[in-house]
Amino acid sequence: MTNPALILPGRTIGILGGGQLGRMFAIAARRMGYRVHALDPARDCPAGQVADVEWIAPYEDVDTARRFAEAVDVVTFEFENVPSETLAAVSELKPVHPSPTVLDTCRHRLREKTFLEGHGFPVARFAAVQSVEELRGALARIGTPAVLKTATFGYDGKGQVRIDDPAEAARAFATMGQTLGVLEAFVPFSCELSVVIARGASGEMAAFPVTENRHARHILDVSVAPADITDRTRARAVELARDVAQALDVVGVLAVEMFHLGNGDLIVNELAPRPHNSGHYTVDACVTDQFEQQLRAVCGLPLGDPALLRPAAMANLLGDLWEEGEPRWEKSLAYPDVKLHLYGKAEARVGRKMGHLTAMAETGEKAAERVLAARRALVER
Ligand code: AMP
Repeated sequence: MTNPALILPGRTIGILGGGQLGRMFAIAARRMGYRVHALDPARDCPAGQVADVEWIAPYEDVDTARRFAEAVDVVTFEFENVPSETLAAVSELKPVHPSPTVLDTCRHRLREKTFLEGHGFPVARFAAVQSVEELRGALARIGTPAVLKTATFGYDGKGQVRIDDPAEAARAFATMGQTLGVLEAFVPFSCELSVVIARGASGEMAAFPVTENRHARHILDVSVAPADITDRTRARAVELARDVAQALDVVGVLAVEMFHLGNGDLIVNELAPRPHNSGHYTVDACVTDQFEQQLRAVCGLPLGDPALLRPAAMANLLGDLWEEGEPRWEKSLAYPDVKLHLYGKAEARVGRKMGHLTAMAETGEKAAERVLAARRALVER
């Protein structure tokens, strides 16, 4: 493992990717007295708005990425699909955490699943498919229902097709729109969980509370912490996340998404080697939030306390809420226990993550009721 040098407040952090994760990371870093540079292809991006310096360049622009690396002390990322050549150029100049090796494993579904299976972690049955014929063969082995996913660039259910009948193979392969896919057995889960865990340079770890995640149209809709599960399942979920973080040798924050089966078993669905949407509630509800934790890990500092201060729920605000005009912020802010986070995106599009709300209450379910009521209030006319 590479031990990052101690990078103390006053030094400069570079972020590859300028979306909302970069923005919240930059806020945490600036609060703690760091300088922040953000590189993103778009001007006035969410992270650029709060960074000290905004670098505007396509991710393929290796020369600019080199100059960016020269200007900072350490590099982290919030966008997983930075080209390997750019990452290699940056990591020749400055430490990158998590390492490009971790990123390479986690941004490719097939590599990720093979890694998980190879280390003995529970995953849904899967097969690589490169043609309709291979898909037919895989369907015969794995059965239906099944889910066909693209091997790369998949997030929020993009590039995902459910297959209920082998006769749908040709259509499903065409819909996926890529030549390399992963066929997965459909998992009849009772709920979805995630554990966001931080791992520091010397291998120490701190896990945030296990969160229950509810999706709508394959996009995260609501996260509730702590998840309403047995202590045994909670302990197992955290143990799984720790073991995965250890096996990956990750330095930084890692999100482990899991399916919870009716019999209590857990299956790992996906990994994200960065702060995660299901950890946004930590900003308001934990002693240390996931962005500060990422900062501490990449700077070689001790990790903070991830303890939950109060049960909490987070609801995403998608661009759909703008369909009838600007949401009525004052209505939602009339809920004094609800916190508003907006990412500074100028254009609201259907399905685009524009912000989120967090509520805290005596129980996670009560917090979920409050946060959903506050979200409904945004569009009440
Ligand atoms: P993913 O992009 O893999 O995280 O998938 C997005 C969402 O689709 C998940 O959070 C689940 O709700 C659903 N999903 C993905 N894979 C499966 C599966 N194998 N079985 C059942 N549901 C799935």
